[in-house]
Amino acid sequence: MLFRDLADVYERLDATTSRLEMADILASFFKGAEPLDLRRSIYLTQGQLYPDYYPQKLGMADKLLIKTLASVTGTKEQTVQEAQLKEGDLGSVASHLYETKRQTTLFSEPLTLSRVYTALEKVSTSEGGGSQDSKMKQLADILHDASAVEAKYICRMVTGKMRLGVASMTVIDALSIAFATKEERDVIERAFNVTSDLGMVGETLSRGGLEGVRSLHVQVGNPIRAMLAERMSSPAEILERMGGGCAFEYKYDGVRVQAHIEANGVKLFSRRLEELTGQFPDVVAAIKASFTAKSAIVEGECVPIDINTGEFLPFQEVSHRRGRKHGLSEAVEEYPVRFCLFDLLFLDGKDMTDETILKRRAALSSSFRTTDQLKLSEMRVLDNEDAVQSFFMEAIRDGCEGLMAKSIGPDSVYRAGSRGFLWIKYKKEYRSELNDTVDLVVVGAFAGRGKRKGFYGALLMATYNEAEDRFETVSKLGSGFDDAELAEMLKTLEQHRIADRHHQVSSNMQADYWFEPAVVLEVLGAEITVSPIHTAAFGTVKKDGGLAIRFPRFTGKVRTDKGPREATTSTELLNMYRQQLKKIEE
Ligand code: AMP
Repeated sequence: MLFRDLADVYERLDATTSRLEMADILASFFKGAEPLDLRRSIYLTQGQLYPDYYPQKLGMADKLLIKTLASVTGTKEQTVQEAQLKEGDLGSVASHLYETKRQTTLFSEPLTLSRVYTALEKVSTSEGGGSQDSKMKQLADILHDASAVEAKYICRMVTGKMRLGVASMTVIDALSIAFATKEERDVIERAFNVTSDLGMVGETLSRGGLEGVRSLHVQVGNPIRAMLAERMSSPAEILERMGGGCAFEYKYDGVRVQAHIEANGVKLFSRRLEELTGQFPDVVAAIKASFTAKSAIVEGECVPIDINTGEFLPFQEVSHRRGRKHGLSEAVEEYPVRFCLFDLLFLDGKDMTDETILKRRAALSSSFRTTDQLKLSEMRVLDNEDAVQSFFMEAIRDGCEGLMAKSIGPDSVYRAGSRGFLWIKYKKEYRSELNDTVDLVVVGAFAGRGKRKGFYGALLMATYNEAEDRFETVSKLGSGFDDAELAEMLKTLEQHRIADRHHQVSSNMQADYWFEPAVVLEVLGAEITVSPIHTAAFGTVKKDGGLAIRFPRFTGKVRTDKGPREATTSTELLNMYRQQLKKIEE
């Protein structure tokens, strides 16, 4: 397949914000693609070379790309740099340079998808001495034969900034249009949820049809997309929803870890499917010491503990380990963690995700010897409000965030990748509706004044609208940052700067700076109100208004464990708003 065909698809995707249209464009492309090309184009469309959970990422430094572009187009590096400052995106810069500067040479060979992919693979894997030169050489080789449009997307891919806004669910829509019926979409989604590899699902579909996809199963080594919880704010509501009774577990405040265990080793994955094995050698050792079966996939929360008192410490303590290469062993000693297991998804060759929670729990309990470093989550099956309330108080006393309620009915399977009422979270802050934390996405910022000059004065925050795959503004966030955090924000957000409002952001405000939705911050709000300016859940409570969070404060927690689509949703906010109103009316 020619790379031009894919670049043309990207041009069309770039020109629309409609999810339906995106799915149609992709579907017609998928139908005509060879299986391997299809697989690769799925990864590339999402700005990747491999599934999420592979450690290799595309992300060439801008500087290196600028150098390469300058040499391929015969432009001064400084000119390319200035153009980047103006446009913010090296892809557009490249395309303009090609249009004005570059002559097509007689010797150029048309680019195939396979050639581009292989070159990008080499760019992403070359390491060590001389790697910069070899990266540049690989890239120059394909850029040399590229047209303006092709160069635009190669530059975006290689820097890891595709920004087409094609969510996994849109790719699944497209695959089901191309290869199945509407009713069969679930089969494809399920395959993605248990393998976390959309490229593989696509390739399997085009080779073996739906039957092939049906035979994709949970496997040790392939992370499973996490099951998520809805939230509610009182034991009475939860018990009613759960049909009178259910299991309640401590909700630990740490890092969710999915452990894949087999004879030749243990691998750990985060909730975002990043590999964490290197960060938690102590957890790997604890698992090896306690595990009594042959192979398994289990889930739990890694919680920092005070070795002197045995008490849980705040979540921030584990984040000291993040990204550490040097001094990891000191961090492990200084901030030890306990692995609190709460689920089992696979055991000795058997997929356990379709079993009920109590069966999974029994299997979990019989496959581990518990130790100080590894325990099962505290759990009780309860059916009355008082008992729930007192268990909740015990959880808070023991340093947890609250409780997780879990259905124990015959349908209490592990629903990979989905949020639903089989699990309901009940957190500490929820008791007071006006004092709740939410996880919001930074979509823009306003220039600072006075003491904040040179920094951002406030950030424009958004919730995620799942149905429309858009980000809707709810607040201007300015308080809760200390000087170091302000400086850090500047650095973190710079990587996501774009020239204009991102096409998936709904905002009636004109920010001074815009960002692609990427960074998620935990925010403590005082009140939810109806606002004529903000766009969250627009039109649901009031015809011409959205929801806003008043008096927001940054809690200090950057939710690096959550992607923008895992932030608080507009529907969740709407439910919180309605619950709050109910309280006031009572
Ligand atoms: P939240 O991050 O607020 O959306 O809450 C969901 C998270 O709570 C999960 O992703 C887990 O990391 C965490 N968690 C803590 N304890 C439990 C538990 N017992 N069962 C399930 N999830 C838990």
